[in-house]
Order: sequence, then C-alpha cells, then structure tokens
Amino acid sequence: MMLASELALAGVKVCILERLKETTPYSRALTVHPRTLELFDLRGIKPKFMERGRPVSRGHFAGLETPLDFSVLDSASNYTLIIPQSETEKLLEAWAGSLGVEIRREVEAVSIRQHPDRVNIETEGPGGAAKLSAAYVVGADGGRSLVRKEAGIPFEGTSETFTTVLGDVSLSGLPPMSAISSYSERGLVAILPIDPTTYRVLLGDPARMSVPKEEPVTLEELRSGLERVLGNDYGISKPRWLSRFGNATRQAGRYRKGRIFLAGDAAHIHFPAGGQGMNVGIQDAVNLGWKLAAAIQGRAPDWLLDSYHAERFPVGTALLRNTEVQTLMFELSPRMVELRSLMAGLLRFPDANRMVSEQIAAFNVRYESDAESPSHPLGGQRAAELELKLADGTACRSYEFFHNGQFVLLQLDVEEGMPFGELWPGSEHVRVVNASLTKANPDWSGVRAALVRPDGYVAWAVAQSDPAPRDSVARGMSRWMKF
Ligand SMILES: Cc1cc2nc3c(=O)[nH]c(=O)nc-3n(C[C@H](O)[C@H](O)[C@H](O)COP(=O)(O)OP(=O)(O)OC[C@H]3O[C@@H](n4cnc5c(N)ncnc54)[C@H](O)[C@@H]3O)c2cc1C
Repeated sequence: MMLASELALAGVKVCILERLKETTPYSRALTVHPRTLELFDLRGIKPKFMERGRPVSRGHFAGLETPLDFSVLDSASNYTLIIPQSETEKLLEAWAGSLGVEIRREVEAVSIRQHPDRVNIETEGPGGAAKLSAAYVVGADGGRSLVRKEAGIPFEGTSETFTTVLGDVSLSGLPPMSAISSYSERGLVAILPIDPTTYRVLLGDPARMSVPKEEPVTLEELRSGLERVLGNDYGISKPRWLSRFGNATRQAGRYRKGRIFLAGDAAHIHFPAGGQGMNVGIQDAVNLGWKLAAAIQGRAPDWLLDSYHAERFPVGTALLRNTEVQTLMFELSPRMVELRSLMAGLLRFPDANRMVSEQIAAFNVRYESDAESPSHPLGGQRAAELELKLADGTACRSYEFFHNGQFVLLQLDVEEGMPFGELWPGSEHVRVVNASLTKANPDWSGVRAALVRPDGYVAWAVAQSDPAPRDSVARGMSRWMKF
C-alpha cells in the first residue's frame, strides 16, 4: 500500500493485486515506530494515524526491565504509536485509493515471468484467470512470497527452533490499560493493552515452545500457560484472535532481479521482537518508491535502481541480527537471568539507552554517502526536521515540503539573486526552498545548500566554505537526476 501510494504520488500508474477480500481484522503489528511516523509526517498523513493510535514514549529491547526511552530522540515523532496493523493497513489503503491506485482484491498472482522489456503476471480471481503485463513487479507479498520464488531469489537463513503464543483477549483481573512484562526461568509473558477492553498476551511457556507454528492455539492453552508462568490467569476470556508464531529468520539474497523487486516480509522475516518488521517494510517501500518512479519516467540515473538493494539489504541484515540477539536473550536459563540483569543495568545509562532506542526507532539508519556527489558529513543521513524561516519571513517546518514526494533543494541563507536554481532546467520533481534556520541544528550549521531525497535522507550537501558552490550544486543535481 505504501509503495503503491509513493508511485501514484509521482504520477505512475500502479495496480495492487491482493488475494484477500478485505483487510484482515487480526493485527500482528501494534507499533508504528518513530522513523515510520516521520515518513508519514513527510507525506502529510501522520495526523490520521495519531487520531487512531496511542503515543507511548517507552519501548523495549528483549523485554528487559529497563524500558527504552524514545522521548530523548531529536524528532517531533519521539514516541511509538500503538495502533493495530489492521488500522494502519486501512489508513494506507484509503490513502492509496485517494491517489488513484487501483486495488484488485480477491485476485491472486499465480505466475510471474520476467522478459527483457516487461513482466507477465497470471492471476486467478472470482472473474476467472487473467493475464497482466507490467514494466516492473514488486513482491510485497509476505514471507512466503510467490514473487520471490518465481524470480528464483534465494531466501537464506534458519528455520523455526521455537514458537510462542499470542492471544488478543479480555482480562478481568487487570486494571484497564495496565501492562505486565515478566521473564523468569518459568517462562516469558508480556501483556499489553490494545484498548480499554482488549489485551494482547504474549506467552513463551517452556512446556509448549516446541509445538509447531501450525498447531492451533486454544484459550485453555493460554490460560494454563499464564497460570504456570505467572501463577495467575487474570480472568482471561473472550479470545478475539489466538495465534502461534516462531523464530524463523531469513533474508532474500537480493532485493532486485531485473524488473522484479522485493519489499517487506518478502525480503526479510524474523522473530517479532521489538515490533519492527512492518516498520522496516514500510521504510523499504519509501526507499524504493521514488527510485522506481524516476526510472519509469526516464528521470533516474543508471545507478539509482540498484541503490535500493545496496541501501536496504544491510538494513534488513541488521534487523535480523537485532531480533536474533533479542531472541537469544529470551533463553530461559540462570546464566541468561544474570546477563539480562547486566544489560538492564547498562540501559540505565542514557547513552546506552539512546543507542538501542535509535536502533528500534530506525534513527540509526544511515546510507553510504555518494562518492560522486559533493562531499559533506550530512550525505546519506536522515534529514531531521528543521525549523525554517522562508525568504518572505514565513515560519515553517522542513517536512512540509515533502508532501508531494519531491526532492527538496534547500538553500540556506542565500542572498537575493544568489540561488542555484538557474543552474539546472528545473523540474516538477524538485522543490527549491530558500530559507534560514530559526533553530540551530549543529549538523546543519555552515550548510549552504543540500539536496534532500523524497524519502527524507540527504543526497548531498554543500558547505558555506565550499570554494566553488555553484559547480558543486550543478554536479550534485546532474548526478541524481536526468533532466
Ligand atoms: C505476532 C507478531 C507481532 C508483530 N508485531 C509487529 C509490530 O508490533 N511492529 C511491526 O513493525 N511488525 C510487527 N510484526 C511483523 C509484521 O506483521 C510484518 O512484518 C508485516 O505484516 C509485513 O508486511 P508485508 O506487507 O510485507 O507482508 P504481509 O503483511 O504478509 O502482507 C502480504 C500481503 O500479500 C498478500 N498476498 C500474498 N501472496 C499473494 C499472491 N500470490 N497474490 C495476491 N496477494 C498475495 C497477502 O494476502 C497479504 O495481504 C509482527 C509479526 C507477528 C507475527
């Protein structure tokens, strides 16, 4: 949904094939983390999510007793939004629909064949079999991705070695909106409020962790597990959804093969520790959308499409490592009790807490700076939101300029008649902004011009001290787009 919206925003004709008739009411994800919220903010859709979700400034790593503190992050989105995935999907679907994306529901892709100039897709649905042809196909079709299999892209990693249980239920024995997190040699339990009447219970009961994922969960299994691990079943009743999930960990060997791309769970699966999978998938989509749109519209330099794999594959690998470390820390042993206590102690140090919080928030993502663009420490970094004053005196936030999915060429403290806009022919895909900073930001001090990508990362920047700023800006612009 996110990728299709990004493409439609850039004016690309896009069609989603979805085999489900409607959004599933069962929400795996409950968290939208800070960087994803920033991406929604960049597109102007964050307020809709805020209306339906509940911001919390705390997160967790491996369920350690010291919480992560997102409130210290340098962002207007310095919290996690608790919002069921079904709501997130509905909001994104509504946005996609408003941008003219065609969504064909109850249509299943059954065959994908790549040719030098197109990709052919065969589908099945209520109207029977059909054939489609597209310039590109993106497999955002989950962990069992047909697109990935049809493209012959390997999905390497490890199979499930344990499972845990999830239940969205009522708990009469807990005050509304209270939470529990418990780790001991008897097992693991996390209880989170979804709304005033529904709790999510996550249970790792050592007696049941070798049960295969496919075996259905019963309310009695969850009830007796709570009793065994916590000594209390908290009056569990009214199951809305019961499910079992495991720790299979795999990553696609490549995110692009010719005209086929992979994003989200089709590219990476892992144990859902820290609530990151959907977030990273949405971030994949925002990385790919503007690149694919530029390629389709003939605006992309030759290297741009391959930068999707180059940038997002390492982020996926880091996600798998971070969830594997958390999984390791769920091991139920006396040694692990000691290690967890040590780690919880370390997280009380603000710098350590911030480091791990940035990882879960995806604020630690930094792409390699482009060697052929003007060199500056900001190159490849997440563009934090800046408070600006425009040349006409208007105060504004830098994220407002990204609503249309354009590049933003930010020219800071440029005197009248000195801007760099005339150095290239101009484009509807680049917004030129002349402004000054109204709130100091050490990373941006001394910057004369910067090109910020549509996904909110800095392509390059030119310092005030650059002896030939016009040449640098011209070089930077022609490196990133064809006019
Ligand atoms: C218990 C649990 C809790 C989680 N909690 C969080 C969390 O708090 N935060 C977080 O960020 N992540 C969380 N995750 C992970 C998150 O749910 C997934 O990463 C996310 O759903 C992946 O999105 P996706 O769009 O890539 O794939 P999916 O959600 O799997 O969507 C793929 C879609 O493709 C459709 N499809 C598949 N094949 C075809 C086909 N051949 N033709 C047509 N349609 C097809 C499917 O019907 C489906 O709608 C959790 C996961 C689990 C199991």
